[in-house]
Amino acid sequence: MARSLKSRYPNSMTKKLPPMVDKFRKENPSKYPWYSAKAHYLTTTCLSFPLIIYAFMKIENITALDLLVVPILIIFAMLFEYIVHRYLLHHRQWFLKEAYVEHTLRHHAYFNHEAIEVTKSADFERVLFPVWGVAIIQYGIMLPSSLAIGYLFSPNAGYLSLIVGAMFFFMYETIHMITHLPLQHWIYNVPGLFYLREHHRAHHHPAKMGKYNFNIVFPLWDILLGTRIVLPVEDRPTDDKELSL
Ligand SMILES: [Zn+2]
Ligand SMILES: [Zn+2]
Repeated sequence: MARSLKSRYPNSMTKKLPPMVDKFRKENPSKYPWYSAKAHYLTTTCLSFPLIIYAFMKIENITALDLLVVPILIIFAMLFEYIVHRYLLHHRQWFLKEAYVEHTLRHHAYFNHEAIEVTKSADFERVLFPVWGVAIIQYGIMLPSSLAIGYLFSPNAGYLSLIVGAMFFFMYETIHMITHLPLQHWIYNVPGLFYLREHHRAHHHPAKMGKYNFNIVFPLWDILLGTRIVLPVEDRPTDDKELSL
């Protein structure tokens, strides 16, 4: 269903950007003329996978009880994503002011529900976490919190939490990047990705960004907490008024 709906969208690459978005993008070009989205994503990958591979190699004599940790951690990771996005990235907190400015004032001005797509590689600088941010999250948050879990519960619980935590953040970056790709990209043939794109696109509606659709990887907590919305037909970038999700 999602794919047939997708196929009825007009070619988004030929659409003009809304004037506000166009103005913001022109006034806020990439700070780095040499910026490469591929190198940025590759660096994120290279910072994330050593932790994941290391934790996999250290696991020994895994039990059913150890494995029970995995779904609990995934559900917790989705809650963490929801809380950080809703309360830290969309509310100005004195200890994380720059994150609010980058996310709410820049990312959401650079992309709105009518213009969620990148038009050039440099636009991904406004999508992906900066490399230093990736390093802090993976090595300053995921690693020490997994060490604490390993110390408090069992070594395997610690290694599994490192795998889930580092992998979840990597998935967050990957899926957020995909939701900002042009709709014509082949990756939208993968089931579920168009659904996640539409979920995130609704979050980019300026009047709704502070209230709805905070999950990126999977909208579990948006559903459970009643903050999931689907854009009404008239808010979709298409002339086809018959569409419904
Ligand atoms: Zn976004
Ligand atoms: Zn947001």
